[in-house]
Amino acid sequence: MQQTLKDLREELHYINHAILKLLNRRAKVVMGVLEVKQRENIPLHVPQREMEMLQDLIDHNTGPFPDDSVRHLFKEIFQASVALMEDRKAGALRVSRAFRQQDLEIPVGDLVIGQESTIIAGPCAVESEEQMDMVARGLARMGIRFLRGGAYKPRSSPYSFQGLGEDGLKLLKAAADRYGMKTVTEVMDTRMVDMVRDYADILQIGTRNMYNYELLREVGRTRKPVLLKRGFSATIDEFLSAAEYILMEGNDKVILCERGIRTFERQTRNTLDISAIPILRRMSYLPVLVDVSHAAGRKDILPSLARASLAAGASGLMVEVHPFPAVARSDSQQQLDLDEFAAFLDAIGYAFPKFQVIQDETPVATEAAGFR
Ligand code: PEP
Ligand code: MN
Repeated sequence: MQQTLKDLREELHYINHAILKLLNRRAKVVMGVLEVKQRENIPLHVPQREMEMLQDLIDHNTGPFPDDSVRHLFKEIFQASVALMEDRKAGALRVSRAFRQQDLEIPVGDLVIGQESTIIAGPCAVESEEQMDMVARGLARMGIRFLRGGAYKPRSSPYSFQGLGEDGLKLLKAAADRYGMKTVTEVMDTRMVDMVRDYADILQIGTRNMYNYELLREVGRTRKPVLLKRGFSATIDEFLSAAEYILMEGNDKVILCERGIRTFERQTRNTLDISAIPILRRMSYLPVLVDVSHAAGRKDILPSLARASLAAGASGLMVEVHPFPAVARSDSQQQLDLDEFAAFLDAIGYAFPKFQVIQDETPVATEAAGFR
């Protein structure tokens, strides 16, 4: 009996559904394979095994599909399976959006990171009491509540200024306390975590240490918020895995900081990876800050980078500000002076606070600062 077009189409429909069912059955088996591989620490993708499976299928191909088509079709299936395993693996991370839906807000004293836009500002390095007092005072007048400053500086040359060490931490904290600010400072070594945490409201892990897994674990054992900078050649997946090290020790107060990655471009010190911002926000619930100063390595494009970062979903910015950048002991070319910083804030639509000057001339904000 001759089959009608309708019959043939019905048969195709039936076969499509059978293939779909089989593909999903295959995907479930792939998930089983993932579980075993993770348990036994075996790599997810084994090209040799894929080649053997393809060869076996070609050997059994009776047509009418030519071998090349069979190879092409099954390669797609294999690739989709690897992607499925990778998605499942990424989704299982504590840092992942699948783990927690809402954006994380991180309290730091009376402040919160991840709500309204946060600005962290201050010099590259703590250099002296006068420098810290001038900068903290100037920043506080503009409503800035987070004061940064490195006391331990990771410098490319061992002969460059390495920071003032614990004395620097004391100067940073004293200046911050004087003007009601919170401190953000870098910790470079596991042996220093206990000491630095006494002075820091937020512990910073620098770009060079993003791969220092022991240090990540150690700050993970504290309950301090951690500002984790992206390694300058780290992929987004590596960046999130670094954050995972901190979380797995029980500290979920992690702030991701995009600070530019190294590319062939020489007009900027690094290339600010704007796409990382929405991708990180999509993949994770952790707040994302952007350090525009270390990304650019120059002053003139900071407002554009800042506006782009905020538009892309950043929860705030880090900017280097020094009372006299020309004589700064590190990163002198990229630090803004206080007037330049005020102009920068104005350019990005920041609303300056109204403040009152009390007896000892300490400015106190009477109205919250923020963005217009
Ligand atoms: C810093 O913020 O002081 C610093 C050294 O930045 P990075 O680690 O991003 O280079
Ligand atoms: Mn710097």
